[in-house]
Amino acid sequence: MTFNHLVEHRNHCPYCSEQLCVLIDGSEQEQEYVEDCQVCCQPMVITVELTGDAETPPRVQVRREND
Ligand SMILES: [Zn+2]
Repeated sequence: MTFNHLVEHRNHCPYCSEQLCVLIDGSEQEQEYVEDCQVCCQPMVITVELTGDAETPPRVQVRREND
């Protein structure tokens, strides 16, 4: 199941450890994309996996681009 709105997810930058807010597009079951950190501008790879349950938040992983 997917949902057609953006969900805010809080995470930490893998480079500078600042808390950041990632917006997740609920219309795709699985996603991987690169976004620059708002603080240190390094490229983070964000992996999103929807749980299939609107009550359960998506699984989100943030890692360094070269890991
Ligand atoms: Zn950062």
